[in-house]
Amino acid sequence: IPEYAFIGRSNVGKSSLINMLTNKKSLAKTSGRPGKTQLINHFLINQEWHLVDLPGYGYAKVSKSSKKTFQKFITQYFSKRTQLVTAFVLIDIRHLPQTVDLDFMQWMGENGIPFSIIFTKADKLKPNAITKHVEDYKNILLETWEDMPNYFITSSSKVIGQDEVLGYIQGLNENMIAEN
Ligand code: GDP
Repeated sequence: IPEYAFIGRSNVGKSSLINMLTNKKSLAKTSGRPGKTQLINHFLINQEWHLVDLPGYGYAKVSKSSKKTFQKFITQYFSKRTQLVTAFVLIDIRHLPQTVDLDFMQWMGENGIPFSIIFTKADKLKPNAITKHVEDYKNILLETWEDMPNYFITSSSKVIGQDEVLGYIQGLNENMIAEN
């Protein structure tokens, strides 16, 4: 069964996004407190695909040793996932490009793990600011990448981008069925 992983910094809005995508408010718990999602959660969606909720990274207040543990954990997850179709790296649209996110995407690229970017909390910025922040990301990413990764602009509170993300996943699933 195809698998799609969701990952991002703590507090990026991952739980809210997962709730939006699954339409089940109780499925993933949201929290106002950063760093709460500790373990990997799997959700089976429509008997068709697995949504994998990975722990948040880059929480400033965790110790160096727990950062290492996290890295190992994530590395292990990605090295064993034969079912993984693509990962979604979540980024808060309000932030200017941050090293921790850029480093993580770099690591994904070096390890051949396909990913798309999901910009979250788009309701917090005006359209021209959204365009500008996406441009900032493009400019930085294109220094090291040949192409801008596939990306989505979402808001869980205003329900923006739901159809786009789900349609993308659906399309990939259908392609895989067609190939087999
Ligand atoms: P997680 O730690 O990445 O799982 O983040 P949560 O989903 O728990 O969200 C963290 C905080 O951001 C909470 O206070 C949410 O209410 C808020 N939040 C999440 N998504 C959105 C969004 O699309 N728009 C706005 N305005 N706030 C959001």
